[in-house]
Amino acid sequence: MRFITIHASATYPSMDIDAAEIRDWHLSRGWRDIGYHEVIRRDGTVELGRPADQTGAHVGGHNTGNYGICLVGGLKQGTKIPEDNFTPAQYAKLRNRMLAHHTRWPEAIIMGHNGFPGHEARGCPCFDWRAWRDEFLAELREEPIQLPSHWLDEVDVDR
Ligand SMILES: [Zn+2]
Repeated sequence: MRFITIHASATYPSMDIDAAEIRDWHLSRGWRDIGYHEVIRRDGTVELGRPADQTGAHVGGHNTGNYGICLVGGLKQGTKIPEDNFTPAQYAKLRNRMLAHHTRWPEAIIMGHNGFPGHEARGCPCFDWRAWRDEFLAELREEPIQLPSHWLDEVDVDR
């Protein structure tokens, strides 16, 4: 993997969305499966989506070698405004999962969806992922990996 990318489902905190529901949304868009590789539900439960050995569909133009994690939530209740409303259980599980992925793929750059060129205007993942990443790496006594520009230039065609 070259990237591990964090997303939000952009749903209200009152909505207990699961991977099956997100799969239904993505199938209705004509995709062959859920776009993410895993989903972290409001209660912190992890549900697997697309297998890790299959390219996801979660950052248009940058899906190759990109593992996608979706946190359920991220919209202020009743609005379309991004809001950091993820639960402590979700943050604990995100850290736990990221540690496993980072150990498995130490070269992969930890990203949030709106860190990719062409996606900067998106609210996703609806929290300060750079601060989260820096804290995560600081606990491991590691520096964030700088983005090699050639990794961001490519365009893939799996959507
Ligand atoms: Zn996203």
